Amino acid sequence: MKIGLIYSRVSTEEQAKEGQSIDAQIKLCSAFMKENGYSIASNGIYKDEGKSGSNTNRPGLQALLQRVIDDKNIDAVFILDTDRLARNTLDHLSIKAIFQKHNVKLISISQPMIDDSPEGKFIDVVLAGANALQSQITGRKTSKVMEQKVKAGWWAGPAPFGYINSINPNSTSNLDRRIVTPDSNSAPLITKMFQLYASGGFSLDSLVEKMINLGLTPKKGGKLQRSLVHRTLRNPFYYGKMIWRGKIEQGKHKPLIEYETWSLCQKIMNSHNQNSCRKRKHNFLLNGFLYCEDCGSRFFGEQHLKNGKLYRKYHCGSCRRGTYTEISDLEKQVERWFSKVQMTEEYANELRVEARNIINSLRDTTNEERQTLVNQKTAIEKKIRSAEDNLLDDTFTKEQYQRVIARLEAELQLVETELAKTTKNYSKGLNRIERLVDMARDIKKTYHDAEPAIKREYLDLFFSKFMVKDGKIVAALPSEYIKPLIANGKFTVRIRNGWLPR
Ligand SMILES: [Zn+2]
Repeated sequence: MKIGLIYSRVSTEEQAKEGQSIDAQIKLCSAFMKENGYSIASNGIYKDEGKSGSNTNRPGLQALLQRVIDDKNIDAVFILDTDRLARNTLDHLSIKAIFQKHNVKLISISQPMIDDSPEGKFIDVVLAGANALQSQITGRKTSKVMEQKVKAGWWAGPAPFGYINSINPNSTSNLDRRIVTPDSNSAPLITKMFQLYASGGFSLDSLVEKMINLGLTPKKGGKLQRSLVHRTLRNPFYYGKMIWRGKIEQGKHKPLIEYETWSLCQKIMNSHNQNSCRKRKHNFLLNGFLYCEDCGSRFFGEQHLKNGKLYRKYHCGSCRRGTYTEISDLEKQVERWFSKVQMTEEYANELRVEARNIINSLRDTTNEERQTLVNQKTAIEKKIRSAEDNLLDDTFTKEQYQRVIARLEAELQLVETELAKTTKNYSKGLNRIERLVDMARDIKKTYHDAEPAIKREYLDLFFSKFMVKDGKIVAALPSEYIKPLIANGKFTVRIRNGWLPR
């Protein structure tokens, strides 16, 4: 016997109407299933009561989609009519595409022919929409598990520099089974790095030199970069805190330094930043994007004067010999890669719809994060006030008070930085999406005309890596932003050979 699920939905206005009730829908669907040789899967009835069909943000529908993705035994989903499922084409086709991907039929019992309707015109567009939707669903699922883990004090991502991901021999639940522990090679050096910097005798650059000499190397190999040192010194993880989705949590991992050392480093870094003029960062447009096809290492830009002429070249950081390539040559090649990205008008329009959805969900998460941070801020401010009270009624000595206040204020600053970051991330996300839509028509030209700094933004938006061999870019890997859009290479963002990861 084949196995099916039932989905039923009724909006608030429809609830009053005859024959449209949830019970009526389920009854009709189960009768139809019985006649056609289907049985209902256990817990196979999904309902959305008092929900509009104008978006897919319905608990019953989301659970149904998750079931279709997870449960390999399902053969079909039964609905009374297509309106139950979705009110707009994009949503409808997106949902259908998920069903198709998992070999699940959609059967609308009052429109038995709907399954064969000629919607093919849209299907390219929609496969991508479906992928986006699916990644939204699975993304939410993993992030829930990860969030629980972080709440319990365990880091839920790749181990930060100086740590390794390992299995906890004393694990008591699935939350503390995989943990991060100090890496016996690099951890002592990182402790040393903080101490050196806290001594005040080093600039960031001289610290990087020093650490290279002491033998500190990044996890992925290659040479220690200034940006990694900077990021590491800024990360409160090393004294025991964790920043997760903008929230600050107490970690149970082994810290590498005392809070005081970390705090000192922040002060030194802030003062250095204020009185040094910013170095021009992207002298080399393609730094960070070029990789060696032979060994996988990163390419670096380099310039030198020879006989009064300036030579600017990129070369592999590890093979070195024989990989030197003219900068202008590679930059021209990259430009040509942009002409491989084309969008149809249809897609540009669908993209706007999708963009609006992304913007909405971005806004929701941002608000959620901000609220949590504001709550944390209020709690810290309350603690500061009670410390002041303790000082006044002599519960605290002046020294105790100062120690407590210093700590609380550092925490307060951390929260405020995170708050500022959520706003920044939000507008950055918005900008990215808007730009994506705007340049839908002629990407190569938009890139060609842009200022170098903007060019970097475009590169970042579309590409994560270009692989170089013998002076030629032989493949390009898409960025995380557009990866969902070109899944299966079927999307109307037309991608020619060599684009997809091997
Ligand atoms: Zn190489």
